[in-house]
Amino acid sequence: MRSVAFTVDVDRDVNLACHGEICSISNAQNGDRSPRFTSSAQGLQRILELLRESGVKGTFFWEGRTADEMSDRLDLAKIMEDHETAVHGYDHEDFPGKETGIPLDEGQVREVLDRAEMALDRTFGRNRRGFRAPYQRTSAPLLAELCRRRYLYDSSDTAPMVSGKVSPYRRPDGLLEAPVCWSLDRKGHKIVSYLWPYHEGKRPMTDYQEMMDQLDEGLLVIATHSWHLVESFSGGLLSKDMVQRGTEDLLSFLRHGQETGVEFVTLADHLRRTNEL
Ligand SMILES: [Zn+2]
Repeated sequence: MRSVAFTVDVDRDVNLACHGEICSISNAQNGDRSPRFTSSAQGLQRILELLRESGVKGTFFWEGRTADEMSDRLDLAKIMEDHETAVHGYDHEDFPGKETGIPLDEGQVREVLDRAEMALDRTFGRNRRGFRAPYQRTSAPLLAELCRRRYLYDSSDTAPMVSGKVSPYRRPDGLLEAPVCWSLDRKGHKIVSYLWPYHEGKRPMTDYQEMMDQLDEGLLVIATHSWHLVESFSGGLLSKDMVQRGTEDLLSFLRHGQETGVEFVTLADHLRRTNEL
């Protein structure tokens, strides 16, 4: 079976970790670097539209603060009802403190997860969920706490596709890991199934279609951010035409998968079906 999970991190616009600060900021606009959520909300609505058009269920990793902020302007429970919701921190924390210089200890990890879970439960209803760490950066206290709370899975790792195969695996501590994937493109360069370079104009979408073509067996986890469809890190807010082109590219990616025998699944559904959950 060739399965692909289309996953979206729904977090503050163009987020960045700052030295000495636990909460992430947004890339500054007119000198203001406080968190913004407008691009994220607009991109989310576009992504949901194209998933509906193509009949694909996605997995959405929600930052708790973003769920709280967007709840004021969108009926999130309603628009997300066909999709999987999972956890992505509360304030987009850099858990190991790689860039902030503040590694979160056990107590701080518990506090962040409590706040994030409460925000998601309030917004979407109580549920057991999966997790992806902001910046895909985990830490020992974080992973231990995810185990203790019986999270469905973690999806922060990046694993290679070997001979056309990549699959979730169980970590020694018992936590399921559904990694994002890397492989080599036709020129022999490393390509990761995170669409960042596409959105920053560094790779065409066809590179990712070719990556999907390489999959013979298992689960390929494709990842992106909702804001990245309407705002880029290097170019700021995108023109209407560019947003439209990005939407069409994503749609053609999904169609290409469907035309070539890929089954699009949510992470939780895939893990349940393969009896790992
Ligand atoms: Zn994120």
